[in-house]
Amino acid sequence: YSLDQFCIPKHYENDLSHVLIPEGLIHDRTERLARDIISDFGTDAIVGLCVLKGGYKFFTDLCNKMQLLNRNSDQSVPMSVDFIRIKSYVNEKSSGDIEVIGCDNLDGLKGKNVLIVEDIIDTGKTMQHLLELLKKVEPKSIKVASLLVKRTPLSVGYKPDYIGFEVPDVFLVGYALDFNEYFRDLGHICVINKNGKTKYSVTEK
Ligand code: 5GP
Ligand code: MG
Ligand code: MG
Repeated sequence: YSLDQFCIPKHYENDLSHVLIPEGLIHDRTERLARDIISDFGTDAIVGLCVLKGGYKFFTDLCNKMQLLNRNSDQSVPMSVDFIRIKSYVNEKSSGDIEVIGCDNLDGLKGKNVLIVEDIIDTGKTMQHLLELLKKVEPKSIKVASLLVKRTPLSVGYKPDYIGFEVPDVFLVGYALDFNEYFRDLGHICVINKNGKTKYSVTEK
């Protein structure tokens, strides 16, 4: 979609090429995913594990939608929340080494049904790494919900259990997805342009 059909913050209006997924569409799709998750889990309790920082908006929306659905149907899924921080990207490339910065309660996930909530799966390496780490604490089950999955030639072939949207192999920002920490304060998922990349790039170490 063309930018002028949407409300884009002034500070980003020259840094984006177009809107790929409007915020309203994300909300709608998230409600549907919440419904699918509730019907799959029945009344089994789950721990929603938010992968920070990129997953925070999707996680919040998903939790809110589940909360609403839980009080409006005969099925309701008890859900607690946890957070883990993973870092690997500099500019638009993975730096290669995936850094897991703390989950205060990893051992507490033992015997639980864990639902990992992530923003985007590109090559799938980050998720593979996280899954290996998580399996060591022996949860009862592990499911993954990712808002976006990229159609990338470099994929390791990993497919999450719940997918919001399949997206083309371009660098996306907005709805908590960042470019060097910028653009998280943008509601729609957009494609960054050359100007945006230049303006917010950092020199790699
Ligand atoms: P993977 O390990 O699957 O290649 O990359 C996954 C992680 O890379 C995501 O969790 C996300 O943090 C980052 N990432 C991959 N593609 C994009 C993108 O298009 N935009 C942004 N902002 N981050 C991305
Ligand atoms: Mg992520
Ligand atoms: Mg990032």
